[in-house]
Amino acid sequence: MRTRTVLIGGRLPLGGDNPIVIQTMCNTHTSDIDASVAQCVSLAKAGASLIRLTVPSLPDVENLRIIKERLRAQGIDTPLVADVHFSSEIAIAAAAVVEKVRINPGNFHKDHEQACAQLKRLIEVCKQHGTVLRIGLNHGSLGERITNLYGNTPLGMKEAAMEWLRMCVANDFYEIVVSLKASNTLVMVEAYRLLAKAMEEEGMDFPIHVGVTEAGNGDSGRIKSAVAIATLLKAGIADTIRVSLTEDPVAELPVAAYLASGTSRGSSSEIKPSEHEKYILDAAVKYGPGLINGEIETIQTGDEYLDDEILQACRKKFYRPEYVACPGCGRTMYNLQETFEEVKRRTSHLKGLVIAVMGCIVNGPGEMADADWGYVGEGGHKVTIYKGKTPVLRHIPEDEAIGRLLELIEQDSASKA
Ligand code: SF4
Repeated sequence: MRTRTVLIGGRLPLGGDNPIVIQTMCNTHTSDIDASVAQCVSLAKAGASLIRLTVPSLPDVENLRIIKERLRAQGIDTPLVADVHFSSEIAIAAAAVVEKVRINPGNFHKDHEQACAQLKRLIEVCKQHGTVLRIGLNHGSLGERITNLYGNTPLGMKEAAMEWLRMCVANDFYEIVVSLKASNTLVMVEAYRLLAKAMEEEGMDFPIHVGVTEAGNGDSGRIKSAVAIATLLKAGIADTIRVSLTEDPVAELPVAAYLASGTSRGSSSEIKPSEHEKYILDAAVKYGPGLINGEIETIQTGDEYLDDEILQACRKKFYRPEYVACPGCGRTMYNLQETFEEVKRRTSHLKGLVIAVMGCIVNGPGEMADADWGYVGEGGHKVTIYKGKTPVLRHIPEDEAIGRLLELIEQDSASKA
């Protein structure tokens, strides 16, 4: 799909024939200015072309301004993106500070007229400051109105995105990037396909940000991201990539860059993956699109583990639990990376279940989409355990929470036996 070029911060072209932009997101608290600056520096040096930081509160807009100033003073001119949920006021304030703002329309006002008014004010500030806007929808956090109309489906995701793109066009605003992420690779690919088709039908050509959200970590996080992103790249859908891993965000960059480097447009970043990453990514890129598109049903690479991982990523086989884990950000309430490893270690026998490990109670429950069980950080070393969308145990001390989760799962399977 041929998209228009938006120029981020007047210097980073995104879309059109330009190289695919490699981006990532800090997992520091934006209020920890020193840590955020240090992470931005290492991400920029490692090859991130665009760096996102979470902005959970109005005071964090000021922190963001200081972070930007310190980076520019060090000669780091990588454009910054404010990641905003829930508050249009924060988005409006951040749009005057950084080069790009990501909003989640599902978090805007429930009343459509009021949401339109909030967006109009945000667009005015974006126009005034030359700020690019990402309309960033996620499976699992669609607004109530859209979910009632279309369900929590790829169609609902597409419809929500198109509605917001039309609202931008109605306000004569075109400096837009759009994304429709999901953790389920089939949902994610279908949503982007529907979006690309709908945009073409309505004469829209906004650049597309692709990514599998809450992909997890290690080989499975890389493979899950690769099969879905490669399917979209093959269909010509992707202008910027973020690979979300529950790891140091530097680790995301070589994976995204390698996927983009296989396209005719190439990658905005030169960073290279390890030999092992190349091995698993090559197989994921080779077989993933055929499996996701339903052209093939199974594969035999000669490496049984790799076959299982690719088949699971494409949802053809569930040989272990499916994990949904957010990458963590400034909202994360506990040591997500260690906890996720521990959850994986202690639940590896629970084949067929979808288990989510989410960093915060603010976005986690909405973002874990179709998980059977959720482990969600509350802050203050406490955890809430979800069964599907329902919180079943609240305020559990962190050191007891995995055990309590396992007990609940066992009780649940015993009651079904
Ligand atoms: S769910 Fe995870 S990545 Fe998303 S806002 Fe919460 S801590 Fe950040």
